[in-house]
Amino acid sequence: MNLLKQKIISEGNVLSDSVLKVDAFLNHQVDPVLMQAIGEEFASRFAGEKVTKILTLESSGIAPSVMAGLAMGVPVIFARKRKSLTLTDHLYSAAVYSYTKNETKEISVSQDYISSDDVVLVIDDFLANGQAAKGLVSIVEQAEASLAGVGIVIEKGFQDGRDVLHQHGIRVESLAIIDSLADGNATFHNEEAS
Ligand code: 5GP
Repeated sequence: MNLLKQKIISEGNVLSDSVLKVDAFLNHQVDPVLMQAIGEEFASRFAGEKVTKILTLESSGIAPSVMAGLAMGVPVIFARKRKSLTLTDHLYSAAVYSYTKNETKEISVSQDYISSDDVVLVIDDFLANGQAAKGLVSIVEQAEASLAGVGIVIEKGFQDGRDVLHQHGIRVESLAIIDSLADGNATFHNEEAS
């Protein structure tokens, strides 16, 4: 997706050989025009899958997911990373390990919002080692819902998330795939293939 790649080049910040900061348009400040284009791109890639719900992770997955939900005409559920006063039981939960933060967090979704009738599209902002996506997929499985696939805004193709998901037979669609962050530069994979 060219608009996204241009944004990463012009406003992304390569923090190290493995971490890209995109606070300028996705992780802190949000660019609504870009988010709308991202939502429409997810809708077109997963057209025909009869998606009934989108599942993402708070907070950075929410903006692209809401725009995809708008384009697809389906509700969006975001898994919570911390227990809330109003979300205490009747939950689907999964443990998600973060390599960048070296910590495990439990993510939760109320059982009220996903059922076995649903076809769920999982969306997240980044794919690195696949742990967040795997946790979201586990929630879909616990609900005995169908999985349409995983949609990713930015994939770090040099990490093994895609392989982890493909091993489970999961379709992955990434809107930008970064091959390398070496020398302070993001270089992209030519095809954002699934
Ligand atoms: P994974 O679970 O695939 O290892 O990592 C994906 C999660 O970690 C995403 O939800 C994202 O929030 C965070 N993440 C991983 N790598 C990066 C990165 O390079 N930049 C940013 N901004 N977030 C990242």
